[in-house]
Amino acid sequence: MPKKYRAGNKSDMKKFMKDIEKTMKNKAENSAMNKNFTLLCPNCKTQKEISFKNGKGICSKCKTEINLDLKWG
Ligand SMILES: [Zn+2]
Repeated sequence: MPKKYRAGNKSDMKKFMKDIEKTMKNKAENSAMNKNFTLLCPNCKTQKEISFKNGKGICSKCKTEINLDLKWG
């Protein structure tokens, strides 16, 4: 089950980054930067499963690029 986070929500994003850090520490070869996350798109506010590659993902609805290392909101 993918975890759900609301992009732009500060406490969710804190959790999100913490989880990424944990994942990266635990499984260096299976980087969180190449993974699917269910996120609420900051642009169209649609909850979407977005696949990230090298920390970048594209919302399949509005085509907004989402960077895992950017600060949202
Ligand atoms: Zn979107």
